[in-house]
Amino acid sequence: MIFSVFFTFFAFLVGLAFGSFLNVCIVRLPQDESVIRPRSRCPNCQTPLRTRDNVPLLSWLLLRGRCRSCRWQIPLHYPLVELATGVLFAVCFLHFGTGVHTLQAMTLSFLLLGLMVMDWQTGLLPDDLTLGGIFVGILLYILSVYALPEPRGQLILTAPEMAIVIRLLAIAGAALLPLAVRWIYRKIRKREGLGLGDVKMLAMIAAFLGFRQTMLTLFLAIVAGAMYALLLLRKNHMVTAEEPSPWSATLPFGVFLGLAGLYSLFFGESTISLYMRFFR
Ligand SMILES: [Zn+2]
Repeated sequence: MIFSVFFTFFAFLVGLAFGSFLNVCIVRLPQDESVIRPRSRCPNCQTPLRTRDNVPLLSWLLLRGRCRSCRWQIPLHYPLVELATGVLFAVCFLHFGTGVHTLQAMTLSFLLLGLMVMDWQTGLLPDDLTLGGIFVGILLYILSVYALPEPRGQLILTAPEMAIVIRLLAIAGAALLPLAVRWIYRKIRKREGLGLGDVKMLAMIAAFLGFRQTMLTLFLAIVAGAMYALLLLRKNHMVTAEEPSPWSATLPFGVFLGLAGLYSLFFGESTISLYMRFFR
């Protein structure tokens, strides 16, 4: 019990630190800047942050949400991203225990959270996280296949090499399906429906979750996105002269993919088996 509480809290602290790094990524990656140099600055007055003002969450609380030099109010998403990463890491530990699965879950949570916030704020899904995430996802999967001698879920009878080939096919499939939808949409509507960033993000999710859970993610994201569009339509936000239909406005689809991906990470397996039982 004490062991578990201690490690959950430790996972939370590690998550806070990664959340702080994620904030740097969120600000710099869409602008093609290095995430390592220069050191963190106040986005408003450009004063480099002192170490004690750069402690995740705590500094924000102590400074009451303002920059020490210029009193600029730090946007709420900075501490929220840190807190969310901390909570997600703690939940990953509680849900998956210790092992490669936890590492996979934490990495995916980190990537999804970052991509969601970036898409929301800038409409961009940088390759560093999507393509980089596919690469890291494959490496972690290979590690999990060889590090876990126990049953690997549905691939229980499959040799490790075969499991890896299947995972690579899943990534390709997860990219090809939305690419086909994109192509058809462009033929019919003569305009761009789905961004390439979304396609890469879905392939990245497949690198971590496999094909079935990725399809669940895509389905949930489309349903959530459609519901969001209908909600906006009701509020008449998107119906203007330039944007006659809610479907022609640009929705931050990466946000829905991120939320659906997080759902699938924690509840995908149980949702799919429930669905399978229903149709047997
Ligand atoms: Zn400042």
